Formats: sequence, structure tokens, C-alpha cells
Amino acid sequence: MSRKSASPQPPASRPFAYRNRTLHCDGASLTALAAEHGTPLYVYSAQQIAHRYQLFTEAFAKRPHTVCYAVKANSSLAILRLLGQQGAGFDIVSGGELERVRKAHKPALKKVVFSGVGKQIWEIDAALAADILLFNVESPAELDLLAARAQALGKRARFALRVNPDVFAETHPYISTGLREHKFGIDINAARALYRKAAKSKWLEAAGVSVHIGSQIRNVSPFAAALARVAALIADLRRDGHDIRFVDAGGGLGIDYGTHNFDPAAEVKKYAAAINKGLAGESAHLILEPGRFIVAQAGALLTRVLFVKQNGAKTFVITDAAMNDLIRPALYHAHHEILPVKQPAKPAKLELEADVVGPVCESGDFFARDRKLPAVKPGDLVLLLDAGAYGMSQTSNYNTRPRPAEVLIEGSEAKLIRRRETMRDLLAPELLP
Ligand SMILES: *Cc1c(COP(=O)(O)O)cnc(C)c1O
Repeated sequence: MSRKSASPQPPASRPFAYRNRTLHCDGASLTALAAEHGTPLYVYSAQQIAHRYQLFTEAFAKRPHTVCYAVKANSSLAILRLLGQQGAGFDIVSGGELERVRKAHKPALKKVVFSGVGKQIWEIDAALAADILLFNVESPAELDLLAARAQALGKRARFALRVNPDVFAETHPYISTGLREHKFGIDINAARALYRKAAKSKWLEAAGVSVHIGSQIRNVSPFAAALARVAALIADLRRDGHDIRFVDAGGGLGIDYGTHNFDPAAEVKKYAAAINKGLAGESAHLILEPGRFIVAQAGALLTRVLFVKQNGAKTFVITDAAMNDLIRPALYHAHHEILPVKQPAKPAKLELEADVVGPVCESGDFFARDRKLPAVKPGDLVLLLDAGAYGMSQTSNYNTRPRPAEVLIEGSEAKLIRRRETMRDLLAPELLP
């Protein structure tokens, strides 16, 4: 099958574009990057990451606020440092992520908020010792543990309860978190009593209220609904005598993974309008925890075609990247646009209808199914777009495959920020007793 269309172009709002018929990230040629660093390779634009962070600080300029980038979206030290130097705080979900913040940009420790339903003693202790900004507490038992550890260390713990507002946000069920049936947060109706109980401990300081309703949320009205419930709770808490200074709106703002018109500045403005509408007159210091929106479109996964294979009526493009390198298609049936690094002649013929798959021994190891692509052949480079968030941070060594290397592009300069793993790295923790 062959059909005519315009030559493929990266959709707007990505830092990837053809120049001299070769795909570039800002000023760096992907052909050159593959030659120097090999594939699969994660490529990120520093300029876009900084710009996306600035969109939040600008859209919320009228309110005292801190943008606490969600580390789990992409936890590369160099990216954390870049954001820390811009002034970002960080939303962490583990003691490991706390260590990353310490290593990347130590002054940001005082702007850390700690989320997660299963905090362990060593993680709580490390965060207390680092004097982080806020613990987002997700259960009564965790609040008891936090009080006990604060007492043991002689430190007062600032906390917010992460409340569950019972608001439905349209997204993939695996990343929806704001309903009562989810494991996250504390029923908003039970929160007031818990704050009252916490006030009896001199080791706990009820400093805020927190909410996070899910991820990849494109329609912003659930944010307004959730924040309206939070604002009402804060008013009650003030009446009860608690000094609530922070309201944490969580993360979750979604991006376009396809080819629709997408104006990131306009999206962040819409989001800010929804948050401000929900908060109405509430003037507490606002904490935001965006992850995906800041890094997803800044990054892409560069991979080389190994084979093109025909099985009956189906064509398979087999790449050297696999589900262990980017699990989103397998885990969430996520869509990633795929572009050839060499721009096809115009008008391009979308000659292939193929499954793009990796070498891993699982039928779930696919990047795309029945995707129309320009003809590609073994040795060609292709780029999986919008892989900057929940890409590298969800990699594994499944099938004993070394993780990809990562480069951060600054203008036309490419900085290696993580070398490719070696067999030695992979085997190092193993014992043959
Ligand atoms: C994952 C997560 C975020 C970030 O979500 P994005 O969709 O990447 O913006 C923020 N806060 C909490 C508590 C999270 O678990």
C-alpha cells in the first residue's frame, strides 16, 4: 500500500526538526549523536526543559508559589540540576529520589515535598534530617510514624495530608489517582479529624493540604473541582485553629502525544485559570508538582532499525530499542510518534504499515502497531517522540539489556549525562556463592 502525503514533520512544540534533511535536536544532528554515542539513546533539549519550567512560573506569577518538579518523570541528575538552578523545588516519592536532589542541587533540599503511600523509616529519617519543606502524608498510620520519627530525631515535621477529593479525571486507569477507590490519599471527609488529632503532637506541624488527582490529564476542569474541595477544607482547618500556609495542587497536566495543535503556553494558562478558579480567595503558598509537562516533549528515544521482517500479511520493523528502554506503549498502550532521522523525499510515500517492535521476548514489546511509516530499512535511524517523561525513569535491564545512554543538548552542544551501561555494571551486584 502506498499513499501520498506531506513529508513527515515533527509536530510543533517539540525541539526536533529536519535540517538538511536530517533530524536535529535544537542544533545537534541525530545522525552525529548516534555515531558518537550509539543507540538506543535518549536525547533531551535543555532549552525546552527550562522553557517549560518558566511557563509555570509565569502563569502563576500573581500567586506566591513553588514549582516542585516531580522527580519520577525523569530523574537524571543533570536534568534535576538544570531545574534546580532555574529555582525549582522537587516532588520526591522515595529516599532514593531525595539522594538525587541532594547530589544534583543541594540548596533545593529545603524545597522538597515528599509524596508516596509507603514511606519507610529510613526515608522519613533522611528527609527529616534534610529539613525538607513538606511531608505529604497519605494515611493515619504514616502520620503516627512521622510523629514518632520526628520525636526520635528531635525535629518538628511539617506535613500536609494528601486528601482524596473523589474527583474523576479522564486518563488511563493506571495513572488516575483521585477517586476514593484508589490507594492514594486520605478521604477528604476524614481529614479534618486527623488534623485535629495531629495538633496534639508537638512533633507535628500541620502546614498544608495536598492533592494529586492523576497524570496525563488534558481537560483541566477536574483540577478546579479538586482545588475547590481543598480550599473548603482549608477554611475549616483555619477555623479549627491550624496555621495552614501551603496548598499543594499536585501534578498531572497532560501533553499531546499526537499531531494535534498544541500550544504549551496556552495549556499552562488554562491550567492556571482552573487552579485559580478552584482556589478562589484562598491565598496560601501554592505548590505545583508538574513532571510530564516539563520533560516529556523535550526528550526522544533514538533507535536503529535492525531488521524489517514479513510474517504473513504483517510487516515488523525491529529496532534496537525495546520495552525495557521505553515501556509506555506496553504499559499504558501509549502512542508515540515515530519519525525517520533521514527525511524522505517529498512528497513522502507512507509505504509501510508496520508494527514497530523491539527484540525483547514478549509480544507486549511494541512501540507501535499497524503504523503507517515512510519506508525504512535495516541500519536506518528512527526517533520515538515525547519520551522525555516516564521513559528513562521506567527502564529496566529485562533480557539483560544495558540501559540506554542519555545526552542533554545545550544549543548545538551535546553533553553525555549518562553513559551506556556495560555488562560489568549489570552483573556487579550478583553473587555465585
Ligand atoms: C507522579 C506524580 C506527579 C507528577 O505527575 P505528572 O503527570 O508527571 O505531572 C506529581 N505528584 C505526585 C504525588 C505524583 O505521584
